[in-house]
Amino acid sequence: MLHDFAIIGAGFGGSLMALILTRLGFRVILIDRGQHPRFAIGESSTPIANIILSQLAKQYDLPRLAPLAEYGSWKQSYPQLGVGLKRGFSYFQHRLGQQFQPSFNHESELLVAASAGAHDADTHWYRPDFDEFVAQEAVAAGVEYSDLTDVRVEPDGSQWLIEGTRAASPVSWRARFLIDGSGEGAVLARRFDIKSQVHQFHTDSRGLFSHFRNVPRWDALQGFSRGQGLEHPFCEHPYPCDDAALHHVFDGGWMWVLPFENGITSVGFSLDRRKYPVRTDLTPVEEWQLMLSRFPSIQEHLANAENVLPGNKMIRSGRMQRWAARATGPNWAMLPATAGFLDPLHSTGNAHTLSGIERLAALFSEHGLNVNSTDFQEALKTYETNLHAEVHLVDLIVHGCFRAMAHFPLFAAYSMLYFTAAIWAEHRRRNGLWSKQDAFLGATDSRYVQIVEESYRDLIELTQQPRLTATEDHAFLLRMRERIAPYNLAGLCDPGRKNLYPFPV
Ligand SMILES: Cc1cc2nc3c(=O)[nH]c(=O)nc-3n(C[C@H](O)[C@H](O)[C@H](O)COP(=O)(O)OP(=O)(O)OC[C@H]3O[C@@H](n4cnc5c(N)ncnc54)[C@H](O)[C@@H]3O)c2cc1C
Repeated sequence: MLHDFAIIGAGFGGSLMALILTRLGFRVILIDRGQHPRFAIGESSTPIANIILSQLAKQYDLPRLAPLAEYGSWKQSYPQLGVGLKRGFSYFQHRLGQQFQPSFNHESELLVAASAGAHDADTHWYRPDFDEFVAQEAVAAGVEYSDLTDVRVEPDGSQWLIEGTRAASPVSWRARFLIDGSGEGAVLARRFDIKSQVHQFHTDSRGLFSHFRNVPRWDALQGFSRGQGLEHPFCEHPYPCDDAALHHVFDGGWMWVLPFENGITSVGFSLDRRKYPVRTDLTPVEEWQLMLSRFPSIQEHLANAENVLPGNKMIRSGRMQRWAARATGPNWAMLPATAGFLDPLHSTGNAHTLSGIERLAALFSEHGLNVNSTDFQEALKTYETNLHAEVHLVDLIVHGCFRAMAHFPLFAAYSMLYFTAAIWAEHRRRNGLWSKQDAFLGATDSRYVQIVEESYRDLIELTQQPRLTATEDHAFLLRMRERIAPYNLAGLCDPGRKNLYPFPV
């Protein structure tokens, strides 16, 4: 039987795309080589991700997905799905061989609140549960689903022939349009030998990560939980710093700590490969121990952590970046994380994936599967052009942050490029100002892109200096404040805030 769409990859991206296309009346086959529930990485959501999820739920009549867009409604509707509370983004600076040093001026901390309270907060998605739930919703809506299936994809005239095996039996489908949501599986890029443009990225990082039990709260570990001992600087935090995407930042890399309420915490290093090339002489576990031993307070944070993956597996990736030179063709498209990915810093991945799904859904809703029409092809091309602009922009932001990690005041100031764009986009969406021309994080807004490019050049020049004075740091912060002024809705880059930004009301 001929399907309208074949979607490769049943991560939350592929499954959600399948669900929406089914709601639009298309016949969809969704194929994954794995089986839910399974370990997956990419867990921390953001306000933009949640606004898009909620808007998609509304627009495509998916009321069962809507509660997942906020912590409070998630907990109330789906207590069985693993989740973590994310009130904001917390960053702490570490120096090689030294204990973490808090100060009354918060020079080694940066906290940016992303919600007013717990109820409307963002979440960490425990992906084994989250992805399985979305796939089950797709199946319940009428998507045909084949898991544990290895396939080859072949263009055949105006159709796709998808052939493979499931449980040693041959399977095959035909479809009019193929969507590749296989992520690092890169099914289409491999099949057509699509050129990688990853060499154009400045960011060059790799991951070393797993899931753990027994990871204590960082604020408790420091002995100064919020609300105790007014003399301690943590008391000024705009939210409890562990109810967040918590980042330990150091010269050449950073660590994410994302606690779920089921007792599991996602923890991993993202390391600049130029500073920390992979230690092939060490096992991933040995390299993990070595990295921890370099930063005493991080080591303390993970001292009793128990790896929960089978065989205590630590995952050591190669370069995390990918960027396919083509993200679309006449009758195919890649989802964002399949076409291009940078680094987990600032949690851009899932929001980017959702924004791509939103655009593809709008395209198929408006043009149907009229692949021979010029309008359809132009819309598909725009999707691709935007993806390219978006990964380019994220690269400048993320790489600049990596460069600044050695010098936290620059990191804190430069990171505001991400928060400015994110809060601007949230504002546009919440106030009905968003238009379908808006790209992710303002990537096609030439004025904003110019601000990022100028700030990037400025930062790179500064980070070439062997030493920076407090006066130079302050001057950079003020330059950043001046640059972002036309978009700065949340009083970012304000020296008076001492790196602590409450939720703007
Ligand atoms: C280390 C790391 C940390 C991250 N952290 C964050 C974060 O905190 N926040 C955030 O927003 N983003 C994060 N991301 C990005 C996030 O992982 C992606 O945005 C997200 O996973 C994209 O979802 P997806 O469903 O499109 O793809 P994936 O989640 O990659 O799913 C791909 C699916 O395709 C299947 N597949 C692969 N190959 C084949 C094949 N040949 N045939 C059939 N099926 C196949 C896989 O089994 C899988 O189910 C992170 C990424 C990395 C690498």
